[in-house]
Amino acid sequence: MSDPRAQGVLQRVFGYESFRGDQQAIVEHVIGGGDALVLMPTGGGKSLCYQVPALVREGTGVVVSPLIALMQDQVDALTELGVRAAYLNSTQDWRVAREVEQAFLDGQLDLLYVAPERLLTDRCLQLLERGRIALFAIDEAHCVSQWGHDFRPEYLGLSMLHERWPDVPRIALTATATAATRVEIAQRLALDQARHFVASFDRPNIRYRIVEKNEVRRQLLDLIRAEHEGDSGVVYCLSRARVEETADFLCQNGVNALPYHAGLSAAVRAGNQSRFLREDGVVMVATIAFGMGIDKPDVRFVAHIDLPKSVEGYYQETGRAGRDGLPATAWLAYGLQDVVQQRRMIDESPGDEIYRRRLGQQLDAMLGLCETVECRRVRLLAYFGQTITACGNCDVCLEPPQSWDGTVAAQKVLSAVYRLWKERGQRYGAGHIIDILRGKDTERTRQHGHETLSVFGVGADLSENAWRGVLRQLLAQGLLAVDHEGYGTLALTEGSRAVLKGERQLMLRRESEKKGRAGKSGGRARAAAIELPPDAQPLFDALRNWRGEVAKSHGVPAYVIFHDATLREIAMARPASMDELGHINGVGTRKLEAYGDDILRLVA
Ligand code: ADP
Ligand code: ZN
Repeated sequence: MSDPRAQGVLQRVFGYESFRGDQQAIVEHVIGGGDALVLMPTGGGKSLCYQVPALVREGTGVVVSPLIALMQDQVDALTELGVRAAYLNSTQDWRVAREVEQAFLDGQLDLLYVAPERLLTDRCLQLLERGRIALFAIDEAHCVSQWGHDFRPEYLGLSMLHERWPDVPRIALTATATAATRVEIAQRLALDQARHFVASFDRPNIRYRIVEKNEVRRQLLDLIRAEHEGDSGVVYCLSRARVEETADFLCQNGVNALPYHAGLSAAVRAGNQSRFLREDGVVMVATIAFGMGIDKPDVRFVAHIDLPKSVEGYYQETGRAGRDGLPATAWLAYGLQDVVQQRRMIDESPGDEIYRRRLGQQLDAMLGLCETVECRRVRLLAYFGQTITACGNCDVCLEPPQSWDGTVAAQKVLSAVYRLWKERGQRYGAGHIIDILRGKDTERTRQHGHETLSVFGVGADLSENAWRGVLRQLLAQGLLAVDHEGYGTLALTEGSRAVLKGERQLMLRRESEKKGRAGKSGGRARAAAIELPPDAQPLFDALRNWRGEVAKSHGVPAYVIFHDATLREIAMARPASMDELGHINGVGTRKLEAYGDDILRLVA
């Protein structure tokens, strides 16, 4: 049975016709006073799950979020909808904070955003005791997990909410969803009684592509030029230095790129983030420090130019593309050096053996995804315990990779590594091993007399690129290891022996000799899905210009006024009356009042 109050708020305030997926069940459960643990992919619609109950229930919904830099935008967006929202955090003048506190005590707030460290202060807890609380929403709940890269120690303190306010429902939300993380969240937040809502993690509008890395910056630039010219996007890198050099490179090549990493001052970071949110077509080049909670709906691509450390992180990062449901790209370039580097980083990482083993398992899962000959999405969702059929919208589905029997090639590699160690006591990195196999006459081969090895030149039949593919896949499968001594030199593993002795056949993914260009699986789809019918285009452009002006005068990002998806719908439906306009998705009462006349005039 549906709750008419929830339905009413959804339509009146948010302008949406119906709930999506589990939203309705969650909203009704929380309105009824139940605790909930909500797992939904980024863009799945988590905010409504606590915003609607906060508006229906008596009192203020208290939202705990670690993302101080985004609170202003979140509050602005709610204010545009006519919702009474405010925040308390350390960026605020104390006088403003007093006013917010008073508004809360007077029952004037529907939603109050608070940073966890603020919430846990005596002053704030006493304030909350004196007012009326509709619910606690714990956003980004995976921050309580010590294994994740977003761990925030203050989150551990949040379990006391339950002891202090046993009757106030709590709803914890996250887009991170392996079974292990879920158990950990429930435990650490004392959500024993909570109902779990696990949504499908599929994001069908995102096209997943993983390409071989060669000249990665050039490949990235090709991707942007060929498919995402003028689009907003995020490029993830592993290190600060790489962020800087990549942002510079893109800027020199005419892309509007900005850097973001923890080494920049807070002011520069905030400035760049704000430009990314407010301007059209900015490409943010960032470390994983960037992105959590960014709810920009029209990010058209997320590119990784270094191998992510875990599937979980990767999925969360790529999920930031296409929240508006329109087609988007997740693109990853990956190569031999990534495997070597990451294995080495794990070896050198501080922490005990268990910790390193866990990092190793996470990396293996990521490598499995990169090397799979199966649908990428099937693999991704399997990681979250969900089963789907081949998606038709990933590189593997669109251009099935070929496999070949790499047993003999693998034996050549392994025996080269073996002989160098056994006969000479030497270990080398991938580049030199490949030179030996291909019988290349280099200073180093000559200096060490490597042309006398029996394996010298036995691999002249394969290109250097092909050999890199073989080594990469051996490393990915644990049949070859990066030596513990460091320097990225290679050594045999337990698993190598079976291959060397011919007890195991090894099917490998064939490397494309196209040098990993953007390839066929890009491009085409964009035109059909993103572009409008020609007769709707002028109106859409006019609406966007109008939106830009309004957003500027209100000092908010354009999507806070209306999403592209809403403007598209208006441009196609051409509503002629307030009533018709009110039926467009994303047009609620408040926005209809504020902007209805302007829009109808533009349509006419
Ligand atoms: P999440 O927090 O899960 O990443 P959001 O709450 O930001 O996702 O929602 C993603 C997008 O989907 C937003 O643009 C939001 O306005 C839209 N949305 C959410 N629920 C609905 C709905 N029931 N109908 C239409 N659009 C929705
Ligand atoms: Zn697929």
